[in-house]
Amino acid sequence: MNQASLPVDAPRIIPRPDHNISRANISQAALKVLYRLKDAGFQAFIVGGGVRDLLLKRQPKDFDIATNASPEQVHAVFGNSRIIGRRFRLVHVRFRDEIIEVATFRGIGNDDEESEDRQILDANGRILKDNSYGSIEEDAWRRDFTVNALYYNVADFSIWDYVNGMQDIAEGRIRLIGDPVTRYREDPVRMIRAVRLAAKLNLEIHPDTAAPIAELAPLLDSVPPARLFDEFLKVFATGHALESYRRLCAHGLFAHLFPATARWLAADGGEGKRQRFIERALLNTDQRIADNLPVTPMFLFGVFLWGPVQERAAVLLGSGKMSENQALIEAGMEVTEAQIARVSLPRRFSVPMREMLQLQPRFMRRQGRRTGVLLEHRRFRAAYDLLVLRLELGEATPELVDWWTKIQTLSPEERQKVFGGQQQGQGQLPGQVPGEGPGQEPAKASRGRRRRRRPRSAS
Ligand code: ATP
Ligand code: MG
Repeated sequence: MNQASLPVDAPRIIPRPDHNISRANISQAALKVLYRLKDAGFQAFIVGGGVRDLLLKRQPKDFDIATNASPEQVHAVFGNSRIIGRRFRLVHVRFRDEIIEVATFRGIGNDDEESEDRQILDANGRILKDNSYGSIEEDAWRRDFTVNALYYNVADFSIWDYVNGMQDIAEGRIRLIGDPVTRYREDPVRMIRAVRLAAKLNLEIHPDTAAPIAELAPLLDSVPPARLFDEFLKVFATGHALESYRRLCAHGLFAHLFPATARWLAADGGEGKRQRFIERALLNTDQRIADNLPVTPMFLFGVFLWGPVQERAAVLLGSGKMSENQALIEAGMEVTEAQIARVSLPRRFSVPMREMLQLQPRFMRRQGRRTGVLLEHRRFRAAYDLLVLRLELGEATPELVDWWTKIQTLSPEERQKVFGGQQQGQGQLPGQVPGEGPGQEPAKASRGRRRRRRPRSAS
């Protein structure tokens, strides 16, 4: 609605001395692409997250380039490039350890945005709406937030601002370009993007941009699940998971991404255990990323689904038709299936995720060969990490977790003594006084050995 503050015909141009973007902070590859385009007679700008993050004194993830050269013209300038994308074509210029994405200025009046799956095709799959290239001004208009629509010009190192983005940067504000309701309707993922960028960059969402979110949140239900998986990764696997999650909840968006999880959270007895369980997982994920350790989306998905899966398993078990194990497997499948209709999870993640959940009951036993086998299971580590989190839910005791932590530090021979022995005292860690440690149930141990004859499922 705030049209008055929106684009003017000419950009406000901020000359080099009046802003803090230095070439020293721009990747060599990006600079090369900019200069070569300029030398070939084209306009060339860095735009989007790269400019925004530099202005906010952050290290950008990457540098995207916008130009008035067509994809063919860009391709002709760079031998090491290829044209990608069917509908809106981009050029990837390849360097040794970096790929620079170059996009031709995009026109408005084409509403598909970033997503390839919003292509408009006829019955034969022919693209009805064509590429529409435009002026830099149009390109600025169709971007989402004012802070994302600033252009760094390689010709004189100035910044071009059509949408008052510099002021919003200075005031620490995320503001949609144009009428917020219209822009969210065009692409509901912008609601998640607003929250994610606010969390990541510690910015405030402008009240006009924030206000419609609660009411429009249900629009997320019709976004293709694959697109939401991409967004899930950006929200939860880039080091700002906890803050993003809190803000997604506050704006009513989380319930449209993980409805079963949101219901399970809402049914918490009031002690906040469930919230602590989720938040600790998110905190750990952020910590891993800060420490440069790998993260997998299957783990957080599993954490989100653990509560709903257990609840469903309890119902199935109550029906009396299944064993505890079968109920957990069945519940895992049902809950996952419902969830991936919302946010997809590729099979290479969903299969290990369900394995991780299914292993949980096995941590309750501390003797028998089967227990030893658990340590060798390829999902052991993830399953163990989930077990640690379950402390928050009161589903594991510190003593049990401690036992599983220590057992991992033992040599194979020492482990063998703990699991494999026939005598009394099985399950005891070295140095433990008999009777004081875990696992005084030899009868169960032998049952465990018999069961092992069954083929191991899903592995
Ligand atoms: P990040 O630093 O997390 O990558 P980003 O802003 O660079 O944030 P990208 O998804 O890489 O996010 O998008 C690059 C640019 O494309 C954005 O800065 C914005 O200008 C534009 N853009 C991305 N998604 C949308 C959208 N849904 N609607 C309009 N413009 C978008
Ligand atoms: Mg980016």
